[in-house]
Amino acid sequence: MRKNFALIGAMLSLFIMAGCQGLKLSADTAALVTYHSSQESGLEKRAIPSKTREEKEKLLAEAKVSSQQYDYEKAITLLKQAGISGDKDIQRALDDYEKQRNHLVKWHDNSKIPHLFFHSLIADASKAFDGDSMTQGYQDYMVTIDECKKILNELYKRGYILVNLEDIAKTNSEGEMVYQDILLPPDKKPLVLSQDDVSYYEYMMGDGFPKNLTIDANGNITNTYLNDKGEAIHGSYDLVPIVDDFVEQHPDFSYKGSKGIIALTGYNGVLGYRTSESSYGPNSEKPNPNIKKDQQQAKKVANVMKQKGWTFASHTWGHLDAGKVSIEHLERDLLKWKREVEPITGPVNTIIFAFGSDIGDWHRYSGAKYDLLKSMGFAYYANVDASSTSWSQIGPDYFRQARINLDGIRMRAALTGQSEVLKDFFDVERVFDPSRPGANKLLQ
Ligand SMILES: [Zn+2]
Repeated sequence: MRKNFALIGAMLSLFIMAGCQGLKLSADTAALVTYHSSQESGLEKRAIPSKTREEKEKLLAEAKVSSQQYDYEKAITLLKQAGISGDKDIQRALDDYEKQRNHLVKWHDNSKIPHLFFHSLIADASKAFDGDSMTQGYQDYMVTIDECKKILNELYKRGYILVNLEDIAKTNSEGEMVYQDILLPPDKKPLVLSQDDVSYYEYMMGDGFPKNLTIDANGNITNTYLNDKGEAIHGSYDLVPIVDDFVEQHPDFSYKGSKGIIALTGYNGVLGYRTSESSYGPNSEKPNPNIKKDQQQAKKVANVMKQKGWTFASHTWGHLDAGKVSIEHLERDLLKWKREVEPITGPVNTIIFAFGSDIGDWHRYSGAKYDLLKSMGFAYYANVDASSTSWSQIGPDYFRQARINLDGIRMRAALTGQSEVLKDFFDVERVFDPSRPGANKLLQ
């Protein structure tokens, strides 16, 4: 990269004489260097701190993405901190961002933010819908990759933007849960996205689902998929890399980099790695000889996911019905989650109830189960309720949201006229995969 720059001789000698820390043109070198770019005409000289053109462009690009994701504070801070505000490109960007920031409006009601969720996506419909005993389950609870991509496109076109739960409400220094300002352009709407059971469960093997989530050569999240020959191929075969790709192309689909929440159980491990000591440890029925390596790899994947705007939630270790089981059972299960999953994901403050089975009705949370969950660090709670486009509740120390299932059941309910809840989000007739068994009849 340095070859693009011709240091002006005089400055170069000054630089050396001043005994600066070598000749590194790194961002942290504060010395003044005068450069001219070979692309610029003549020998235009400008005294700016030691930013190479490449570094400047990287900074501008980074600030641009932040601005596209409505984080003008970050974009402006980045550019100001660069200490090259005299630079006309930087100044122009700063002026732009100040202007655009003034057009943002505060989202009018944080209690009215929809939350949609998926299960694992079907990568190969011919395998999932092959008529075996699992077919009906996949029909009911899953959507295909094609369906998911159409849904994301439609959500984007309708002005939805992905936010995380902490963008909506957060605990303040007094321990109270309080709404946060979400500042958006007037035509945009916040939306929470989550995905449950991203374990690539044992039962899914051979049914057209990926094997795991992993990291590609560029440091991005990708899936491993075993093709018919049993060869591992990599690509975007599930929600996480698909949303990552989508936000890469449409940065303005994400609010300040937020993507979605991944709700994990523990009994089959996580993210496609058989990491559970109780299920796959040396004394278990199905020992995984690579368990330590798999645990390390799962942790690496989780870390990259967090950097890319994903958060994690407990879905209970054993996919428990939290509303029904005894408090002792719930506690044992959640401690197991903490032991086996938390070392991989890091601490979580969100519980996404398996089966959507909440610990209470619509009244404010109280009682022993709530006290237990609170003592275990949970501040965000999510159940399932598709009776309206959004439902939430803010308590003194928690925020709870209802989620709408995006799956075969919900889409069939729309096609048969039983439910209109998806209308605000996408047109089911355009999304519904014709490769689903019985699709022709439903789409008539
Ligand atoms: Zn589940």
